[in-house]
Amino acid sequence: MARYRGPVCRLCRREGMKLFLKGERCYKEKCAIERRNVPPGQHGANRRRKVRAYGLQLREKQKLRRIYGLLEGQFRRTFDSANRQRGVTGENLLNLLELRLDNVVYSLGFATSRSQARQLVRHGHIEVNGRRVDVPSFRVKPTMVITVRERSRKVPSITDAVEFAQGRGIPPWLELDGAALTGKVLEIPSREDIRFPIQEQLIVELYSR
Ligand code: SF4
Repeated sequence: MARYRGPVCRLCRREGMKLFLKGERCYKEKCAIERRNVPPGQHGANRRRKVRAYGLQLREKQKLRRIYGLLEGQFRRTFDSANRQRGVTGENLLNLLELRLDNVVYSLGFATSRSQARQLVRHGHIEVNGRRVDVPSFRVKPTMVITVRERSRKVPSITDAVEFAQGRGIPPWLELDGAALTGKVLEIPSREDIRFPIQEQLIVELYSR
């Protein structure tokens, strides 16, 4: 699956907020947003544009898409699934994104970023209910158990990530047994559990045009 391979801090600067795309660096002073929070480009700091409704909706969509590292087509398909479900489309969309296996692996602290989590899944380091799953978009459900495979438990990037993630905490809809490198999905996340500032209604309006 294709993915964005350009400089990721540029994406944060474009959105004017931390998207946490680079692992440990995002929590340090070296973070580009901490050092120089201006839009990218030669005239980024001086550019003043009138933002219209469409612009706001587009930026909100780009923000959410970039946080989860999805390409446009994948994001649109996720939105269409959310739209087909009962309930509030914006909240359904956030739930579908949160319940992706790569996001759950990141949230449990087995990886320092969602892109690293995606790589762990792709490389076969993760089991769901005792079976290897190498599809990052796999949708986890309540009661499912996510484990780092026995033979992968000493992989340095995983042990480092687990150590680093201890201070980060895990969302209340997940349960972690850090010693066993095992996590469980307790429930579907509620809107309050999704902490980053996103106005999902703007994304629904964008795709409803
Ligand atoms: Fe974004 Fe992380 Fe880069 Fe900071 S270090 S700008 S949060 S990707």
